[in-house]
Amino acid sequence: MTDRILEHLPYIDIVAMGRATRVPDWYGDAVGDSFDVHSFVIHHPDSLIIIDAGIGRGNEPIDHLYAPQAVDIGDALGSFGVALAQVQALILTHLHLDHCGQARRFTAPTFVQRAEVEAASAAGYTVPEWIPDDDVRLVEGDVEVATGVRVLATPGHTPGHQSVVVDARHGRAVIVGQACYRSGDFAGLEPVPDCDDALELARSSISRL
Ligand SMILES: [Zn+2]
Repeated sequence: MTDRILEHLPYIDIVAMGRATRVPDWYGDAVGDSFDVHSFVIHHPDSLIIIDAGIGRGNEPIDHLYAPQAVDIGDALGSFGVALAQVQALILTHLHLDHCGQARRFTAPTFVQRAEVEAASAAGYTVPEWIPDDDVRLVEGDVEVATGVRVLATPGHTPGHQSVVVDARHGRAVIVGQACYRSGDFAGLEPVPDCDDALELARSSISRL
């Protein structure tokens, strides 16, 4: 009986989406000399949901600054048996270049905080042509995207940052986006280092999670 209940709960795959092989000086020691990029697949019994969309390709300033080795999101998801056209919802934790890069490859609705879309209109915030412009569902605060899949507003790293909590087959999973980097930071309420202007907000967001 227990197994039959469990098999109807979602499970999650972590998808390697490549890496930035170079990091601009203004990051300081925050991320080291390079960083990896990931997406997540939520295999939900009612729907197929993707979280974040990697780094985009073909943008000259980004190529110069980050020298990305970006993985094609169609290929990456294909290796998990997922076709882009099957995806029923895309959740973007925020709109920085390494989270929304290939979002326009999806035809599914995109869930992003209204505050994040507003923040992303600032010059230099992201690559505007990578932001999805079709069927965008503007979220204000928390929302349940599917049964047991909740988006929580977790501002701090960015004004409209959001995280995802999934009641999954093997327990509750918290996908924190860029609210913090390491499990120890999560336990210690230590946000990513670039939250100087919103440090307390960032800490309270981790505390919520
Ligand atoms: Zn970011």
